[in-house]
Amino acid sequence: MAGIVLLSGGLDSTVALALYLERYAINLALTFDYGQRANEKEIIASQKIAEYYDIPHRVLPLPFLQEQTHSALVNLSENLPNVGLDELDLQGVTRESASVVWVPNRNGLFMNIAAVFGENMGEPSNIITGFNREEAATFPDNSLEFIDAMNRCFTYSTQKKVSVVSPTSNLTKAEIVNEGLRLKIPFEYIWSCYESKEKLCGLCESCQRLKRALFCNNAQELVGQLFYDQ
Ligand SMILES: [Zn+2]
Repeated sequence: MAGIVLLSGGLDSTVALALYLERYAINLALTFDYGQRANEKEIIASQKIAEYYDIPHRVLPLPFLQEQTHSALVNLSENLPNVGLDELDLQGVTRESASVVWVPNRNGLFMNIAAVFGENMGEPSNIITGFNREEAATFPDNSLEFIDAMNRCFTYSTQKKVSVVSPTSNLTKAEIVNEGLRLKIPFEYIWSCYESKEKLCGLCESCQRLKRALFCNNAQELVGQLFYDQ
């Protein structure tokens, strides 16, 4: 069984990688550059993490995706939404935030590209993704239903057996941090921010979710280390 991890360099994909490695090997880590604001940070983070776990790493540029994307995640003239720590469970707020950073068919595209690599490895393969239960509520392409749908799709579109697995999909962000602490992932390498500053901005939705999850795990020291002082 071959393993290909979709590695953004963020918390979820890093913990998914580490959880998968507890039982199986991973042959390749893929990171996509679609002109997202944090592309350089994500590439550096994923390179360091792949190196830390001794996994071959490739960065794939997708310039057409940048052309087709007008959301604030890519477009610097649009403002990124700030979501307060106390607003993370308000569906109206997070739906609005999700729509501002939406990238057309991103996860579907990433999985389909990974399936090309998986099929070419000549044996059944798993594509490992770092979805989480919290964000599946507002990003339908992070959900278990989407994984099932992709797996059905791959039974038609690939000849070797290619499957998507997400060891983190049933976990909240706090539970993912807990697993990350247990597995001693290199937290100092991760980049989970929509922005591309020196430290994590601490204000975007992705930062707020990570910050809340770290606080839930009494990891205040990591908050101080990774984020700007608020
Ligand atoms: Zn941020």
